[in-house]
Amino acid sequence: MEYLKSLNEPQHEGVVNTEGPTMIIAGAGSGKTRVLTYRIAYLIDHKGVDPFNILALTFTNKAAREMRERIERVAGNDARNLWMGTFHSVFARILRAEADRLGYPSNFTIYDTDDSKSLIKSIVKEMQLDDKVYKPNVVFNRISAAKNRLISWREYLNNPVYQADDESNMKPELGKIYKTYSERCFKAGAMDFDDLLFNTNVLFKDHIDVLNKYQQRFHYVMVDEFQDTNISQYLITRKLSAVRQNIAVVGDDAQSIYAFRGADIQNILNFEKDYPDLRVIKLEQNYRSTQTIVNAANSVIKKNKAQLPKKVWTSNDEGSLIELLRATSDNEEGKLVASSIFEEKMQHQIHNSEVAILYRTNSQSRAIEEALRRMNIKYKIIGGVSFYQRKEIKDLMAYLRFTMNPKDEESFKRIINYPKRGIGASTVDKIIVAANDHGISVWEVLENASHFLDGRAAAAVADFHVMIRRFQHEITQQDAYEAASQIAKSSGILRELYEDKTVEGLNRYENVMELLNAIKEFTDDEEKEDRSLGAFLQEVALITGLDNEKDDDGDKVTLMTIHMAKGLEFNHVYIVGLEEDLFPSQMMLNSRADLEEERRLFYVAITRAKSKLFLAYALTRYRFGRLKNCEPSRFLEEIDPSYVKVSKKFSRDTTPLPNDSYAKSFVSGMKKTTSSTPVRKKSNYQPSADFTPSDTSNLQAGMRVEHPKFGYGKVLEMDESGANRKAKVSFDDFGEKTLLLSFAKLKIH
Ligand code: ATP
Ligand code: MG
Repeated sequence: MEYLKSLNEPQHEGVVNTEGPTMIIAGAGSGKTRVLTYRIAYLIDHKGVDPFNILALTFTNKAAREMRERIERVAGNDARNLWMGTFHSVFARILRAEADRLGYPSNFTIYDTDDSKSLIKSIVKEMQLDDKVYKPNVVFNRISAAKNRLISWREYLNNPVYQADDESNMKPELGKIYKTYSERCFKAGAMDFDDLLFNTNVLFKDHIDVLNKYQQRFHYVMVDEFQDTNISQYLITRKLSAVRQNIAVVGDDAQSIYAFRGADIQNILNFEKDYPDLRVIKLEQNYRSTQTIVNAANSVIKKNKAQLPKKVWTSNDEGSLIELLRATSDNEEGKLVASSIFEEKMQHQIHNSEVAILYRTNSQSRAIEEALRRMNIKYKIIGGVSFYQRKEIKDLMAYLRFTMNPKDEESFKRIINYPKRGIGASTVDKIIVAANDHGISVWEVLENASHFLDGRAAAAVADFHVMIRRFQHEITQQDAYEAASQIAKSSGILRELYEDKTVEGLNRYENVMELLNAIKEFTDDEEKEDRSLGAFLQEVALITGLDNEKDDDGDKVTLMTIHMAKGLEFNHVYIVGLEEDLFPSQMMLNSRADLEEERRLFYVAITRAKSKLFLAYALTRYRFGRLKNCEPSRFLEEIDPSYVKVSKKFSRDTTPLPNDSYAKSFVSGMKKTTSSTPVRKKSNYQPSADFTPSDTSNLQAGMRVEHPKFGYGKVLEMDESGANRKAKVSFDDFGEKTLLLSFAKLKIH
């Protein structure tokens, strides 16, 4: 048991005390995930526990895979039989096995967020409500929040508090939409993501024998990232471990970043009450980061009022100071980050894969990507639009889903007239209305097309019905790959894409072929217990943003949102876009609680870094199609300045903007402690002593101008958008700059 030697005292305690309830709430990088991993290995290897009896819940499927691999290294191949994965994937598996108890088909479809919103949109339309009031997004979030608090549509409708709440929000029909939405999902044999947890709770509540069965099976239950579980998830784990009480949870309240999805720090507090014999273990030593990073992170999180007291320290090296990158624009921010990565690689021989760039929102990746491409630095984006979200992939998936579960209304809507087969929107509406009026599924309407539709429409629909019947037969005769290939061909999808000879068309064709490859791989994977098409569809439905990465992806810089970065670590971390209204996000400034959640997010970001951390911000940024002035984030000022230095790349060759008081105070305060002198570009330009700016209201492309810092240049382009009017100028000595005319001092020549 060599591995036990690589643990400190409290970690060791967390690993070998396998019986009874255990909770570890400890700071970032203190080895919580390591303790869980070794605990499982120890159970199998030392205590002879059958992996089949161990359930471990992780934040992503990828995290589960990595843990499993590590455990296999210690405990051998048996570890394959562990029940390990996200809450959603593990309980989807259980729901599939027990679906009949809830009146669902075992091949139920999992609706993704797009499916859910599309269904909500139809319902709002059918109820003749205003879709500007009942926006699919808003309705979806409300329903999701209710489900995550285990409020069924019945309770929702019967509770006057919710009704009053909705009325005061001018959305009195929300309860009815919730009801219809739930009924329609049920009728379509579909569950959305929240249903996977909601229905598991229903299953365990209403079917005690089923609960008993799983209580008997899972002798040991473990949860990583416990701070981000919601009440629905919490209750599931509590029920499962109620008999044996062998439950171990690890987490960090300072890293709780999913309150907006219903995660509740209350779970941590309840845990002590629910398990009076609780063993609480503290881990205080951080093994991940330098002293500078650990101390800087502590100085930030200290500002939060709501937190459990804990210490985090490290015996790692002091490390280098955190570097501050200041840019004039989002594009320049990208350039500064890219060239900093380039230099770090040159100086310290680091690999791309040791670098991560973290941002608050996905849309920030564009400027960074451009800069990385220009400098030939390979990168990958995690999250964002994944392979499985592409239209052509969703189309073929919808065929496969509908073949497996012909009640699935959302898949039906996607494919009934794609590729075109002369079935118009009004026919589709008729089919859906007929299904709803008669309380039957769309499939039953298709089976009796001539009864519900007239001549031509009925004939076209009958052909579609025959085709799907053929597909259903094929699935029983062939393996998943062969059946899926056949469906791709016979449905006409492949031909449709093949005939589109544009670059995009070719791309889409290749994507569909790639999907078929993925199914082939799945079908050939002998380690998989269930290699059916149904199992494949379920696996895909539950892929999270972090999972759609192939592991053999080569040496690339990782770009992702901070939410995605939880639990991960990188040698070099760049946190970009540290500006007010972006991070902290504008939407999170309304209450202290929201602001504290943003601060925890910042804490998560900082603590991903092992040896070097960079913080970047821009003074102007395009947001929602407009150029905006930005103020540096308040979070920058919250870091104890003794851990920060101004980067050599800190941009000073800029039009002075009045909104950067932070930089000014910082630079003057830091001068003595930092050795970095900002490099200025060489120029022969000397501003004339009598430089007086001109009125720029008539400035036009083609004019020559003079700027007190950049010298002479020619206006290339004007952007006339109101107060943010700006000019793109090609300066003789400084190249292209975009200037905000409300601030720039320019003289027209
Ligand atoms: P987070 O809060 O970010 O999820 P964590 O508490 O789960 O962090 P781990 O990821 O388990 O922390 O550990 C952080 C790093 O420290 C990992 O690289 C891990 O291998 C290493 N580590 C943990 N414990 C030890 C130890 N006793 N000796 C050496 N390295 C350790
Ligand atoms: Mg962890």
